[in-house]
Amino acid sequence: MSARPASGNDTAAALRATAHRLDAEDPLRPVRERFTLPEDVVYLDGNSLGALPKAVPDRLARVVAHEWGALGIRSWTESGWWEAPERVGELIAPLVGAGPGQVVVGDSTSVNLFKALVAAVRLAGEGRDEVLVDSSSFPTDGYIAEAAVRLTGHRLVPVLPAEVPGRLGPRTAAVLLNHVDYRTGRLHDLPGLTAAVHEAGAYAVWDLCHSAGALPVGLDAHGVDLAVGCTYKYLNGGPGSPAFLYVRAAHQAAFDSPLPGWNSHAEPFGMRPSYTRAEGATAGRVGTPDILSLLALEAALGVWEGVDLAAVRAKSLALTDFFLECVDRYVPAGSLESVTPAAHEERGSQLALRTPRAAALMPRLIARGVVGDFRPPDILRFGFTPLYVGFADAERAARVLAEELGAGD
Ligand SMILES: *Cc1c(COP(=O)(O)O)cnc(C)c1O
Repeated sequence: MSARPASGNDTAAALRATAHRLDAEDPLRPVRERFTLPEDVVYLDGNSLGALPKAVPDRLARVVAHEWGALGIRSWTESGWWEAPERVGELIAPLVGAGPGQVVVGDSTSVNLFKALVAAVRLAGEGRDEVLVDSSSFPTDGYIAEAAVRLTGHRLVPVLPAEVPGRLGPRTAAVLLNHVDYRTGRLHDLPGLTAAVHEAGAYAVWDLCHSAGALPVGLDAHGVDLAVGCTYKYLNGGPGSPAFLYVRAAHQAAFDSPLPGWNSHAEPFGMRPSYTRAEGATAGRVGTPDILSLLALEAALGVWEGVDLAAVRAKSLALTDFFLECVDRYVPAGSLESVTPAAHEERGSQLALRTPRAAALMPRLIARGVVGDFRPPDILRFGFTPLYVGFADAERAARVLAEELGAGD
């Protein structure tokens, strides 16, 4: 990073004044009131575990005491538990640019990746024996892809997203890509790569863990075939909240899940010996949904009411730009390197700064109320969640980072 030396109090006063002005002008500022945030903490880890929406505790307490405690088994019908996976899917759909009937919630991202990838290669049919997988991906994606192709008899081809167009061909069945890299924060070209995959006659599966709730995705508009994503990151569903699966309407009739449990049966209470797939996104369900987590997520999704995703994206870029500017001013040249692309069209909603001292630094930042995380071997990650992080937070985080860097080991 081309840092200028910290020039003391004047710099800090100017940056704080800018932060104050930007916070005052921020149209999303009131949304922060929808969250419970710890006192005096700058929470920059919403890309790992989103903050607690205020509506969740009361809703969960009522689900437990009334729906479970008082109604018991009746709640599967009377409280709408049975349809919750599809109902919550409809709340997520507009956040990822999906029309109705294509998103279902349940299981973890890892499990949904398995369903999506196997379903994609089955859609591709005979004669295509290769699956391209983003080799820079979150490890679970690679593990699951490896196990999936071992079962289906395909060959795994690890590639960087930029290499995908050059590796596509008549043998490619499916391609699994991450929208935003979990480590570097790099945003990949979903429209362009999806078009290239289709050009080759293959199917595109996208992992949206670090983009759902952080920026517009446009699944329908860009022709994505299948997609999965977490709900405990930018969607604030709580620890271990169930993931989502998108199955494009055009593929639903042929969607062949490798985990066809009774919840995806056309007539689940018919208790038939043979399997008939349900219609729509329901075909992606497996077994009994985890109702408590699912209903906590449903309550959490209320924070999106009236929120414009274009405003979220604009604020995310402004916040990350401002944080980088503050780091540039406060931190001595050469002590940090940003591995997140500077270009807006290649940036997600987190910044990754590299320093050999990262492992020792992050606990010290956390002790001072600046919560980010560390990814081996040398990356400090700072997630900027526009619904509840402000510009004064960004200034303070950069200042504390500079102070701790200057303090020596
Ligand atoms: C967070 C994340 C996951 C998490 O998977 P789980 O099965 O929900 O634990 C998977 N993939 C990516 C890219 C992630 O960022």
